[in-house]
Amino acid sequence: MKTCTTIAETRKTLERLRADGSSIALVPTMGALHEGHLQLIREGFNHADKVVVSIFVNPVQFSPNEDFETYPRDIYKDSGKCRMEGVSMIFNPAAGEMYSDRKLSIEIDELNRHMCGASRPGFFEGVLLVVNKLFNIIKPDVALFGQKDIQQFQLIRKMTEEFNHDIKMVMVPVIRANDGLALSSRNVYLSEKERLIAPCFYRSLQYVEKQISGGVDSLALLLSHQRAELEEKGFKIDYLNLFDLQTLQPAERLMKGQNAVIAGAVWLGKTRLIDNILTEY
Ligand code: AMP
Repeated sequence: MKTCTTIAETRKTLERLRADGSSIALVPTMGALHEGHLQLIREGFNHADKVVVSIFVNPVQFSPNEDFETYPRDIYKDSGKCRMEGVSMIFNPAAGEMYSDRKLSIEIDELNRHMCGASRPGFFEGVLLVVNKLFNIIKPDVALFGQKDIQQFQLIRKMTEEFNHDIKMVMVPVIRANDGLALSSRNVYLSEKERLIAPCFYRSLQYVEKQISGGVDSLALLLSHQRAELEEKGFKIDYLNLFDLQTLQPAERLMKGQNAVIAGAVWLGKTRLIDNILTEY
């Protein structure tokens, strides 16, 4: 397994990796790899001959009051995990290699108006910018992303269509701890007490899903009850709602055959958790 830090070296290595006609899957990450990331890597081998992992804490997607400085980083441990999974190459650039003279950005329309787009201004613009660059540098045949970041997946899929990236997009279901908490690099911020409360968030989404599929009368009432219950347990609600999967706009009710997602973002102390469940009526 080779670790490249420059774009030139990455392109040369990829030439070698492709020399025998191999196809390439890319798993973009910010590192601090956990089982969720590893599942993306494993799934990569079901779609391509070789898997490349990028590890880059992208400064452009963090706003000044967010955790860019403290975001967990451990390239040594991450390398070991990638090697164990049979990864061919890690791309681990410094910020200067990715953004030497940035003058352009990507604008997003109403797909950015709700969910994390509403509470994290500039976040998805930064994500699309870096993924666009990674796609151009690595030119993978397949790219894998997690359902945990469902809005991110839908936006990147739209970008690949609009910008004519010839890349197959694969979404991997949310990987969870035994108690249901979605794995996340940020879970290390949780105190012991918060970690015990954290699974209530997923249980709340599950409850909403069960009620919706049972044909609930008032979705608004159901959601406001769940928000209040979570707040009582110590969560601060950023959002918790039902969204249309294609438009990413809040859905007041679920039409027959409509694909939707029950999605939320909540704070537990200084940790922001996101999670979602896909649903169809
Ligand atoms: P991150 O390093 O947090 O930027 O995540 C890199 C990729 O891993 C993204 O596509 C995430 O959606 C995905 N991912 C993170 N956590 C999980 C999880 N628990 N289950 C599935 N995919 C995940």
